[in-house]
Amino acid sequence: TIQVDYEKLKEYSNIKNKNEGKIALELKNVKKVFGNTLVLNDISLSVPWGKVISIIGPSGSGKSTLLRSINGLESIDTGDIEMGGLPFMFKNNNKIKKSNKKLQVLKIGMVFQSYNLFPHKTVLENVMLAPLYHKKNKDQELIRIHALAMLEKVGMLIHANKYPHQLSGGQQQRVAIARALAIQPSIMLFDEPTSALDPELVQEVLKVIKELSNEGMTMIIVTHEMKFAFEVSDRIVFMESGQIIYNEDPQQMKKTQDERLLKFIGNVA
Ligand code: ADP
Ligand code: MG
Repeated sequence: TIQVDYEKLKEYSNIKNKNEGKIALELKNVKKVFGNTLVLNDISLSVPWGKVISIIGPSGSGKSTLLRSINGLESIDTGDIEMGGLPFMFKNNNKIKKSNKKLQVLKIGMVFQSYNLFPHKTVLENVMLAPLYHKKNKDQELIRIHALAMLEKVGMLIHANKYPHQLSGGQQQRVAIARALAIQPSIMLFDEPTSALDPELVQEVLKVIKELSNEGMTMIIVTHEMKFAFEVSDRIVFMESGQIIYNEDPQQMKKTQDERLLKFIGNVA
């Protein structure tokens, strides 16, 4: 039988609640250049613990590059990124360096548009892969139990022994969310998590993300699902040409007079 240590999990989320009001993630004057293009043009952004920020904006405005910079998949050219009030990384001789061992505790989970599960591994194996790698095969049973708990969280426990091709896109994306959660991240980043899905599968994925926000997970979500973004977010950031044009409370943003933003957010009010 499968047993989930809910007390442990609760303890874990309580740890996060203790940070209430403090800043989880801070970007200060971040710039990033690709060739001749300033892809991130002086981005400053604060994300308090437990809050949800949605990033919206036209294609090519730098949303993915911003997320990728936050989790270290891209280096930045100038500026700072801090996590938990400490410098997260800095650029030195064109190399990103994790600046402090202490910061390894603050892990970031990321979910992409394309879920990219390993096709030859089961759902459970996919979710266990990263934690096993990091733990070097210690605590294998604990990792398995935690992976099963994450699968239950996204409603995929009954599919634990299936292979990705046996699942719908929405189910695969939910597994990808469980996989990201399996490393016990402090912050979750979502880059258009429902853009590759058939319309009828979008809601099941959004529901899981919404549940995470209810549990107090700190999240940055790039999405075109405006209704969802306005429902779930504490702040909405509108990006254009590598810049943050607006960073507002959703209720406030709904009252915008800016034609371009209005056209973009459509009929959410
Ligand atoms: P968004 O996610 O908002 O659509 P991106 O962050 O993907 O925007 O891209 C922002 C800009 O950076 C685009 O002009 C894109 O062509 C460019 N870009 C993104 N990745 C690269 C790369 N690896 N090399 C060169 N240019 C890139
Ligand atoms: Mg993108």
